[in-house]
Parts: sequence; C-alpha cells; structure tokens
Amino acid sequence: MVIDISEARAYVLARCPVAAPISVPCRESTGLVLASPVVATEDVPPFANSAVDGYAVVAASIAVATQAAAVELPVVGEVAAGAYTDRVLQAGEAIRIMTGAPVPAGADAVVMVEDTERLDDGQRVAISRAVSVGMAVRPRGDDVCAGTRLYGAGIVVSPAVAGVLASVNAAVVQVVPQARVAVLSTGDELIDDGSPLLPGQIRESNRTMLLGLVRSAGCDAVDFGVVRDDEAALEETLRKAAAECDAIVTSGGVSMGDYDVVKTVLSRIADMRWMQIAIRPAKPFAFGLLESGDHQVPVFGLPGNPVSSIVSFELLARPALLQMMGHAIIDRPLVPAIADGALSRRPDGKTHYVRVFAKFGDDGRVHVESVGSQGSHQLAATSLANAIAVVPDGDGVAPGGTVPTILLSLG
Ligand code: AMP
Ligand code: MG
Repeated sequence: MVIDISEARAYVLARCPVAAPISVPCRESTGLVLASPVVATEDVPPFANSAVDGYAVVAASIAVATQAAAVELPVVGEVAAGAYTDRVLQAGEAIRIMTGAPVPAGADAVVMVEDTERLDDGQRVAISRAVSVGMAVRPRGDDVCAGTRLYGAGIVVSPAVAGVLASVNAAVVQVVPQARVAVLSTGDELIDDGSPLLPGQIRESNRTMLLGLVRSAGCDAVDFGVVRDDEAALEETLRKAAAECDAIVTSGGVSMGDYDVVKTVLSRIADMRWMQIAIRPAKPFAFGLLESGDHQVPVFGLPGNPVSSIVSFELLARPALLQMMGHAIIDRPLVPAIADGALSRRPDGKTHYVRVFAKFGDDGRVHVESVGSQGSHQLAATSLANAIAVVPDGDGVAPGGTVPTILLSLG
C-alpha cells in the first residue's frame, strides 16, 4: 500500500524520542539543546565599568566645559581593565580610566579621551565637553542580573548563548546529547577503495554524502563502511552499529529487488515497517527499531539511488534525528516561491520533490529554477540545488506560478 509522506513522517517521529539529558561543560554545549532552564547566578557586568578610554569625573564638575572654554582638572589616579582603585573621586578631580576598568567610587560619568587634552605630562586634563550623569558608565548587571531566567529548556545553544553561559559562570549545563549515528552502504556493486571498476561495479557515493548530511544535522557521524549483500556480514555490522550508536542510517536494498539483503536481515532482527511513499524520488523507505541491550535504536533504511537517498534523508531522517536531540524546530523553512521556469510533470498520484536553485529576486521574493536533470541517479545536478520545490500531483507549475519550496540553504 502506498502511503502519504505525512503518515510516514508521523510513524517515524513517534518512534524517535528525545534522548535523556546529560551535563556538559558550557564550552562543549554549542549546537546542543538545553534540557533545563538556566538562571543567572551572577551579575554581568559584575561591577560598574567604563565603556570608553577617558577620564572618570563627577559630571557636575565639568558642567560648564565647552570646546571654547575647557575645564581643567587634576588627574589623581589611573585605573586599567583588571585593576582597581580605592581612591574615592572628589568633585573637581579626574581619574584616568580604560575601557572595562571599574569606575572609581565617587565618579558618576566618564569623558572619552577624544574630548580631552592631556596637560602637564598627565598631571592635569583639559575637558572640552560637559557630560550627563551616567555617561559612558556601564552599570553593574546592565547585561544580566543575578536571578534572571536566561533560557528555557529547548533553546539551541548558539555560539552567543554559550558565551552568555560563560559570562554568568554556568560552567556546566544540562543538554540533550548529540546523537551518534552509524552510516553504512550496502551493495555488491559498490567500490570505495579507488580500484579500477570491473564490469558491473560503480563507485560508492552515498556513504560519503550521508556522513556529511548526518554531520550537518549536528550529529556525530560514525562510518560503518560498505557492507556486501551478505546476510551474515550485514547482521554483524548492524548489531555492532546498534550497540555503539543511537541511530543507524543505511543506504540501498529497501526496494523490491531480489537481492535486497537489507530487507531480509532487518525484517528478521528488527521491528521494521517497509514503506512505499507517494513521493518522487524516494518512494521506497524503511524504518524500524533494532533492540540492543536495554535500548531501541532507530534504523532509517534509505533507498540506494543517490538522489532518493538525500531526499528521504531530508524528509524523514533529518527531522527525526533533530527531534532525538531535543530540537523544537525540526524542519527546514518552507516558503512560497516563484517558479522562474516551468516545473513540468505528469499526474501520477505522487508529490514530486524537484531539486531547484533558489535565490531572492529584486521583488524580495524567493525565485526558483530547476537544476536540470531530475533522475534519481543524477546526483551531480542535485548537488547544485539549494532548495527543493514541492510540486503537488497534477500537471506541474507554469512559469510565474507559486510553488512551496523547502530551503536547504539560501546564502
Ligand atoms: P538499491 O536501493 O540497492 O536497489 O540501489 C538502487 C540504485 O542505487 C542502484 O543503481 C545502486 O547501484 C545504486 N546505489 C546503491 N547504493 C549506492 C551507493 N552507496 N552509492 C552509489 N550508488 C548506490
Ligand atoms: Mg542494492
């Protein structure tokens, strides 16, 4: 029975739960999803400090300063970033201060060095501009106040978020771990060692591609190589992968062919569903759970045709892997795009996932054009696509028509 992509997706997602949280140093948390909220325990900045290089003053002391009539003050000290002065500044005095240095007690503003002139070898300063109270002073807690709930669970730790965690001394955070994903290819015809091709042999390419796709989904990709169409060898590799990894991605052997050993083996050792999905490419797809010790390892059986492989990874495996890693947003952006050329097709009961090149037009809208060859074996054309147009069953999209488009990247 041919099923809808939404049914396949729901089946897969229902069987790929979020992994149990772990604690990691904040420096290793980038790219992971927070498993519990983070509350700041420190103020940032931890003390009032200067936003500029200049002179700490009492604003009232230089209220009458202008370019024409500068106010001269004695310089009674100096404070650099990382240093500290306990000299309390009095009205009518200045202390030389650097960016990030603590504002001395008594001072209520900083005049930037550009509005000053050093006199008497630095003993005095002429200030040619009045400043308001608080000028160029970054108050304690101006960025983060202790006690603030900074992030809820489910937030992806971006490099900036990791920086904030470091700034509040959240040295260890609770995150959903990165998934370790085994990638393997199957097929007697596949050669991956550079040796000359014998009749009937082809270069193996899916594994290289899938390792990259798994990695770009934020997972730890583990290469389990090419497995021959041999039941014992395949079972051994799958069991090893299940013991060492959180998920398994296989390529090949899930369609109706006679030598689809993947089907024979996985049917025997795992709880599999063999699907025919109403899409093109990537009609055959298998998903199931392989038991290993006390856990169930999701197995994504992708078709061998390279373009089918990448499309089913995008539509089914990637969202599931992101879900396992705690992501709330598991899908690429889907936007309405203008078809600059025809996206032709015939009615066949399937949704077509047409590889396209997308760019922003002068009208501010996304425009797409087919990358050319759309055969499921033609990876070279697909490799130039940065988007996939979702063309519904029917006669295609005429030039100028609108087509929902999955954006893979839009640089
Ligand atoms: P299968 O799904 O095993 O029936 O394979 C379908 C098509 O994809 C056949 O033409 C295979 O030779 C090809 N194919 C399968 N696996 C790979 C792979 N890892 N790299 C390149 N082509 C492959
Ligand atoms: Mg095969």
